[in-house]
Amino acid sequence: MSTNASTNGVTNGAPQKAPQFALSSRMSTGRAMSLDVWSIFNAANLPADCINLGQGYMNFAPPQWVKDAADASLNTVSANHYSHPKGRIRLREAIRDHYSKDFNRTLDVENEILVSSGANEGQYAVWVAFCEPGDEIILFEPYFDQYLPSITFNHGVPVYVPLHPPTNFSDKTTSDAWKIDFDELRRAITPKTKMIVVNTPHNPVGKVFTEQELQKIADLAIEHNLIVMSDEVYDCLLFDQKPHVRIANLPGMWERTITVGSAGKSFACTGWRVGWLIGPQSLVGPTLAAQTRIVFCTNSPLQEAAAAGLEEAEQRGFFKKQVEEYQERRDVLLRYFDEVGLKYSTPEGSYFVLADVSDVQIPEDYPFPDMIKGRGRDFYVGWFLAQELGVSTIPVSEFYCDEHMKIGERFLRFAFCKDLDTLHKAGERLRGITKFYKKK
Ligand code: GLN
Repeated sequence: MSTNASTNGVTNGAPQKAPQFALSSRMSTGRAMSLDVWSIFNAANLPADCINLGQGYMNFAPPQWVKDAADASLNTVSANHYSHPKGRIRLREAIRDHYSKDFNRTLDVENEILVSSGANEGQYAVWVAFCEPGDEIILFEPYFDQYLPSITFNHGVPVYVPLHPPTNFSDKTTSDAWKIDFDELRRAITPKTKMIVVNTPHNPVGKVFTEQELQKIADLAIEHNLIVMSDEVYDCLLFDQKPHVRIANLPGMWERTITVGSAGKSFACTGWRVGWLIGPQSLVGPTLAAQTRIVFCTNSPLQEAAAAGLEEAEQRGFFKKQVEEYQERRDVLLRYFDEVGLKYSTPEGSYFVLADVSDVQIPEDYPFPDMIKGRGRDFYVGWFLAQELGVSTIPVSEFYCDEHMKIGERFLRFAFCKDLDTLHKAGERLRGITKFYKKK
């Protein structure tokens, strides 16, 4: 009997050729295989002492009482085991009690609330449940980059409608100056349009959509029978008394809106991956069916902790205090921008600010790694500033389609979900930016 060494893995010491497997076709969509901005502008690639104002996560811990609840849950038996795919009842009840007044209705914990493994996975499950091949999904640019592959993996077609930045920045310019051209939005709607994705407060602009803007989106959604996915994960971070308007509350919109929330943003625990969806049974039910097949259920102990967070937040005055802290963080960073003459739009919500870096001049012979090459100008500026000043940011062109990249290339996103000391240190380093400004 003859033996073929290569079929049983025996190679007699000769280097074994790795088998090649064809990728699924979805991996060639949605920029899935290209290095994403989070991997490029990652601490591992940046100078060791670089201050991270890039990827949006806090450099402080969740509140003590929320961490204590996480500890306590590990000491119970049930919280170490599977949850109901809908989410643990304690968390669904806490979501009901926290959000019912916001939605002007008593939310039904069995049919109108779904806990997900982070907001991102919940959104993915919505697309699994509702996206047919060729369905068009409207995204406002700059859009949070995860939406794109989540849509294309489900054979959806993203359709991009840019928010238009202000042409001139003054010291009074806020994120509200980024505007939708509603004729452009109307023209983007076709018989194949299935959904509009709204994100308020907005990552990365910090824009808080006004009732008038949301009403115009709602009118189009009703006229064309569209679903609205409203990503409101920064709903606890609005500044300057700006009201948070939920599109689900506008007339006729509850039935067609799924609202997305996040424990990570609310309680400084972005790595816990606990999020939730709120909406009518017709949207939540099929999403539950999809999600059950994707993750079955979300991790149990941290759902208990997120529940404790929501249960006690009001009596502890937590969200009010947190907003004040974030507003102070924002203002500290912005004073440094003012000092060095960086133009920006003051964010009314979220923990991001976009600064216009078109005046930064990069020396012609400056060395860049291959992963930056061929990307937008903002990737070069962001890389250069991280090396030269020791402050990392996120280039905004990543949040645009190729055709509209020019709009985003002017901006870098700075995250201010950091303690004051870190923001001051970053601000002091940013003083060095003026020596790189173009000579006028
Ligand atoms: N939402 C966070 C941000 O925008 C993290 C994104 C991510 O790491 N995928 O910075």
